[in-house]
Amino acid sequence: MARPEDARQYGRATRNRAVDVRRSRGSTMGDDHVLDDLAARALDSLEAPEQARVDGHLRGCDACAARLAEYRAVVGALPLALDPLGPPPGTWATIQSGLAPRPDVR
Ligand SMILES: [Zn+2]
Repeated sequence: MARPEDARQYGRATRNRAVDVRRSRGSTMGDDHVLDDLAARALDSLEAPEQARVDGHLRGCDACAARLAEYRAVVGALPLALDPLGPPPGTWATIQSGLAPRPDVR
């Protein structure tokens, strides 16, 4: 049978463990990090609630913030790796015909 002193000791140990998890944030890559969402965050493709959750984590986690900065650097360089590509033939003619005044409208 647990004595009241044992319960108090257990509660103290549980609280201390919770403090240790908070201290480890930013220094280790544990399950509470947002690694799976960082690529989507770098592309600004998260839904608002997810983005708020990820941004909240990033404010307190240097490790994830640093990883996001790396992802953003890659995203910024991606267009430079592509050959310039113009629009398909006829695109501008199609746009101009859509802009021309229609003879049946005054
Ligand atoms: Zn993190």
